[in-house]
Amino acid sequence: MLSVIIPAYNEQECINKIYASVYALLDEHQIDHEFIFVNDGSTDGTYHIIRELSAMEESIVGIHFSRNFGKEAAISAGLAAASGDCAVVLDCDLQHPPEKIIEMYRLWEQGYEIVEGIKKARGQEKRMHSVGAKFFYSVISRMAGFDMANSSDFKLLDRKVINVLNQMPERGFFRAISYWVGYRKATVEFDVGERADGESKWSTIGLIKYALSNISSYSTAPMQTVTALGFVMLMISVIFGVWALIDKIIGRALEGMTTVIIITIFIGSIIMISLGIIGYYIARIYEEIKGRPKYIISSVSRKEETYQTKEDYFIAP
Ligand code: UDP
Ligand code: MG
Repeated sequence: MLSVIIPAYNEQECINKIYASVYALLDEHQIDHEFIFVNDGSTDGTYHIIRELSAMEESIVGIHFSRNFGKEAAISAGLAAASGDCAVVLDCDLQHPPEKIIEMYRLWEQGYEIVEGIKKARGQEKRMHSVGAKFFYSVISRMAGFDMANSSDFKLLDRKVINVLNQMPERGFFRAISYWVGYRKATVEFDVGERADGESKWSTIGLIKYALSNISSYSTAPMQTVTALGFVMLMISVIFGVWALIDKIIGRALEGMTTVIIITIFIGSIIMISLGIIGYYIARIYEEIKGRPKYIISSVSRKEETYQTKEDYFIAP
């Protein structure tokens, strides 16, 4: 069975469309399936639409978060709830073309354990976002040691991979983690289409935060650059120190005031930046050490009934 996982945040216009198009395809190719819609704390009619859908069909499950926890959390929840032999994760807005699911599924049948959707074209987006995305991916690709520029969250995973991901306690970056785990991989290229309806949920600030948190969750390199910078500064200060001493000896000391000021400012700013970077990592450690769940599920909707979760208030991370 194939589990179709769809994270949805304020997507009332898209839910029925994506369901209809994916269902038609899977039905046509006679692929046994289930749908898992993860409602990531939407504030529009998404909850009701998902509930109605899941009341109609046994194969549709709706998971509703108590608030917005972000797409990564929604994907984790979907993977934890999936009961298929494999699962495909795709965006709600039809930017991940459903036809490709069939291609991915066939590759899975041939024994591939991770089938990745690779973007051929990035589709329409704000210029600032595409420049930002380029920079972010060049940084993270270098750190991770593989090219991620065209990767996406559009992926089909085998049960083995899902089990591994479900056991990972960290709040990772789905794209990078599913690469990190290894396994036999295949890729499928796709064109990013226009959004079916509504608008992108990402603000520029949101994207910057997302990029920073992913870089830091994937690598401690920024913290190591602090050490490197420290050494560079040490060398520079040795040179300036010798120079200052010579000045002193030949009796020219006072003139160096400008240099002193420049050095003071320079070192001051480096120290502040370094502290900031270290502080950022400490904040991340603090977040993880609190051990809070990645998300809180407030209710689950299925055909039989919509129930409020009680003992299992959340699915443990
Ligand atoms: N999404 C989510 N939680 C969020 C933001 C987005 O579950 O906090 C979902 C959204 O409903 C969609 C997918 O993530 O299914 C991609 O979002 P969007 O289309 O806004 O992003 P973009 O395509 O611009 O990267
Ligand atoms: Mg989109």
